[in-house]
Amino acid sequence: MLVTGGNRGIGLAIARAFAEAGDKVAVTYRSGEPPEGFLGVKCDITDPEQVERAYKEIEEKQGAVEVLVANAGVTRDQLLLRMSEEDFTSVIDTNLTGTYRVVKRASRAMLRARKGRIVLISSVVGLMGQAGQANYAASKAGLVGFARSLSRELGSRNITCNVVAPGFVDTDMTRALSDEQRADIVKQVPLGRYAEPDEIASSVRFLASDEAAYITGAVIPVDGGLGMGH
Ligand code: NDP
Repeated sequence: MLVTGGNRGIGLAIARAFAEAGDKVAVTYRSGEPPEGFLGVKCDITDPEQVERAYKEIEEKQGAVEVLVANAGVTRDQLLLRMSEEDFTSVIDTNLTGTYRVVKRASRAMLRARKGRIVLISSVVGLMGQAGQANYAASKAGLVGFARSLSRELGSRNITCNVVAPGFVDTDMTRALSDEQRADIVKQVPLGRYAEPDEIASSVRFLASDEAAYITGAVIPVDGGLGMGH
């Protein structure tokens, strides 16, 4: 299985959960060192050539990817009037187009094998919206339409494609928020706290398991109740 952005945060928790269950795990990392215990493949998902090279290396060393978790993502928050073209397009290019690149490449072998599991990491923000995150929310909402289209295209070949929509999770991404912003968020979450990365990983594992064989095109919220009704 492959997790993009598996070197830290939610991606690393997902990679560990699959490895603990005995799966062969590859992770992409873009900067720094690869985490220990997995096949680390350097890859920036905004570059189609790096995506192709990463898959070739994984296929050589571990065989075809049967489970893909498209997790890599970025934020570049700004109110609309101050949001530059670059702020907007770079977030779309990573979160949405980057996901298209890795999913498209994985689907080739899955179609041949007539089986596969694809899980996309979206966000509660893609469903509810968030001031200052129009670029990020658009990219994460886009993943829902993308996944549902693929469910229809790939379903007859026994390939499922689902979305996990986390709420606020304690990682580097949210540690960048001010204490005041963090406190405001917690007030809106029925469970009254941030999620741990492992709590996202367990839903991803479920979607990749045999027990979830009849689930496709679904959006699974793991958000402490924040997005109810969306
Ligand atoms: P982090 O910022 O901790 O990690 C982001 C990961 O994405 C890193 O591994 C990073 O690699 C990788 N990445 C970013 N850009 C690229 C790129 N161009 N090519 C390859 N890899 C890239 O974030 P989280 O763990 O918090 O988030 C993981 C996912 O979950 C994201 O898609 C995020 O949007 C989503 N999410 C997070 C929530 C949260 O509250 N934290 C809530 C809802 C969704 P590198 O280390 O090299 O930078």
